[in-house]
Amino acid sequence: MTVTLITGANKGIGFETARQLIELGHTVYVGARDAERGAKAAAELGASFVQLDVTDDASVAAALARIEDVEGRLDVLVNNAGILGDGTVDGPTALQMFDTNAVGIVRVTEAALPLLRRSEQAAVVTISSSMGSFWAVTNPERPEFGIPAALYAASKAAATMLTLQYSKAQPGIRFNALEPGFTDTDMTAAMGGGRPVQESARVVVRLATVGPGGPTGTLQDESGELAW
Ligand code: NAP
Repeated sequence: MTVTLITGANKGIGFETARQLIELGHTVYVGARDAERGAKAAAELGASFVQLDVTDDASVAAALARIEDVEGRLDVLVNNAGILGDGTVDGPTALQMFDTNAVGIVRVTEAALPLLRRSEQAAVVTISSSMGSFWAVTNPERPEFGIPAALYAASKAAATMLTLQYSKAQPGIRFNALEPGFTDTDMTAAMGGGRPVQESARVVVRLATVGPGGPTGTLQDESGELAW
């Protein structure tokens, strides 16, 4: 059984990724900051629930301690939790955006590393964004070029860089970041449009299930590697 933890899995792309990985036979832990929403989602999915707020060290430590008690290891970590913000650019908002979208990845990954090292097929998949790709935001042919999202883009650039740096520091574990594709979720509701979560979650599932010989230290979308 592959043991998988997904942060922010009570809805959206994280929830659908949980559903698809359960279908493939994974034992999935739904991480959610709100106990009621998380427990409800886990029950619906046939998954286990762990309370996990990526901005709270104590909750991250308790979530990983629970998985260690029950499973003794972790095979796949999906860093999915994230926020878009409302366009406000100021110090407190920047702290919150970076705390969730970048520092959260460090908190969860550091707590998960001892458990991941016990796996023979350890993989960490981080849902970053093409908004964090310097190549995409400087390319007038790309939609990201015209979207103003300073804090989201900067925090996702940090998420991608963390993935790359972790892949170098932890050669025994595959670390990949991805752009799931513009998706219709609560995050994007105000923008309208976006494709169904089922399609975007497939991008996550592909990277969460690549074997030990698979890629590491990449940024990908559904077409393959994406430029930094
Ligand atoms: P979503 O439906 O809003 O889901 C976001 C999830 O993150 C929710 O479960 C939310 O929990 C959780 N979350 C937020 N802050 C958290 C925290 N401090 N601790 C734990 N969980 C937290 O959005 P989504 O579209 O599925 O987004 C999933 C990921 O994909 C994000 O990282 C996002 O940046 C990325 N992404 C999305 C798109 C897109 O087009 N949708 C494109 C590129 C990248 P609550 O329910 O408690 O708020």
